[in-house]
Amino acid sequence: MEQSYISDDVFEQIKDFDLKYLTEEQKLLIDKLIPNEELKQRYKNYGLCKGCKQPNTGYVNWCQSCNSKRFQQNFKNWTSGNSDVDKLIQESQLNAKSEDEKLEWIEYDRFENIEYITKGGFGKVYKAIWKDGRIKSWNYETNQWKRYESELIALKSLNNSKDITSEFLNEVILQ
Ligand SMILES: [Zn+2]
Repeated sequence: MEQSYISDDVFEQIKDFDLKYLTEEQKLLIDKLIPNEELKQRYKNYGLCKGCKQPNTGYVNWCQSCNSKRFQQNFKNWTSGNSDVDKLIQESQLNAKSEDEKLEWIEYDRFENIEYITKGGFGKVYKAIWKDGRIKSWNYETNQWKRYESELIALKSLNNSKDITSEFLNEVILQ
């Protein structure tokens, strides 16, 4: 029967392959060792997770199974103050198959150079620098998240926190 996971033995045989430049011999070996098509594609596209030794699920070295546990352990350390918003962010973190599918809660003091731009549908729009930058992947050396550089982002303030309706949250998801 086809295995839906990679054994330690297979992991050892394929972990050092340079996925960008696979030789014909290596390709044949991969076909033989990973008959499961989905696993094989994940391995070829995203490489192997150092944590669970299974193929990653997306960029950048993203393993949904390992990262969702890391996020979950951190749920107790933050809250937006609104349980619907918390739930939306938490679910995105648990379900993210790649780096760009997750949301993060950012405390206001992590922004700097906040400048007013214009009025938007739900309130005012500002630009700001997010000092930390988005989570990129897990750093196994420091046991912390690796992040992108700080970045320029758009901040939207709400006239009324009652505006956090399901309609508003849907707009957030679509963006
Ligand atoms: Zn993993």
